[in-house]
Amino acid sequence: MSISPISQPINLYSDWKAELSHCVSSIDDLLIQLGLNADDLSATEQAAIDFPIKVPQPFVQLMEYGNPNDPLLKQVLPISSELAIDSNFSTDPVDESNYNPVPGIVHKYHNRVLMIISPNCAINCRYCFRRHFPYDENRQSKQQWLEALDYLKTKPEINEVIYSGGDPLAANDNFLRWLTAEIESISHIKRLRIHSRLPVVIPARIDEPLINWLGHTRLKPTFVLHINHANEISTELSQGVDRLKQAGISVLNQSVLLKGINDSSDQLIALSEKLFDAGIMPYYLHMLDPVQGASHFDIPKGQAVEIFSQIQTELPGFLVPKLVQERAGESAKSLIL
Ligand code: SF4
Repeated sequence: MSISPISQPINLYSDWKAELSHCVSSIDDLLIQLGLNADDLSATEQAAIDFPIKVPQPFVQLMEYGNPNDPLLKQVLPISSELAIDSNFSTDPVDESNYNPVPGIVHKYHNRVLMIISPNCAINCRYCFRRHFPYDENRQSKQQWLEALDYLKTKPEINEVIYSGGDPLAANDNFLRWLTAEIESISHIKRLRIHSRLPVVIPARIDEPLINWLGHTRLKPTFVLHINHANEISTELSQGVDRLKQAGISVLNQSVLLKGINDSSDQLIALSEKLFDAGIMPYYLHMLDPVQGASHFDIPKGQAVEIFSQIQTELPGFLVPKLVQERAGESAKSLIL
């Protein structure tokens, strides 16, 4: 089989909203672009009924033409293994439903809260721990956002807000600017974190309107990207990260350890090296959350420790992410090693 990269430009549209509305939404469309056959890959629309396929075109451009084992393709392609029910996996693997005091807020950890900013993502990752999250119950009206802000005001122990989702950057900048200004007015909140995969899959998301509100908040913002494989880091993403850093915003990365995608020390070392070259510091390497439909991505803990020990011997400490697991009911992530 001959393998060559897809050679169109990464940003087909200069506007991220246009990219978002032109995502690939069928298995056939994706595989035709890559010269692949659904039967050879066990791809099935049945696995996409409750959690549809969704892939922005810039992310497709990073996949290798003709490669059925492409590590980016495997993160987004619905396959028959997702239909297997595993009794050790659940629809709410980290027990978030018990920590949802008001719509839009997940308050699990003492001094920080998650705000579920947007129910939408730019990409549907097949291993997502929120693939069954009740977003409809967390879809906010203006009144509910005011109630969520009231919740923050009554909890002086909260000093950090994390914008999450879905993907928080699927929301528009006018809303994000308004919400951030409201949070700034709460004196005990000192920090803002943004957990987003959107700039990885649509680098045009890091644009002037975003930099304008984020670069001027008193909340000392930190961006935490989600990148699992070195091939996800494009020139356009690196340029966006440069713009964030010039605006004084720290940029970190978290990954998920995934079978068949990044489960070797060579791949994780290449990821850390390329992150650093792009100005992004490795932060967390997560064990897979046991979400129903994703058991085929799971890596046994012993194997994870073996891989991780290898990267520790080959990378300087500042390029080694923390290997962690989130467990239901625990007050912080658990360090595995
Ligand atoms: S971008 Fe994040 S929240 Fe959205 S599907 Fe992927 S892993 Fe889940």
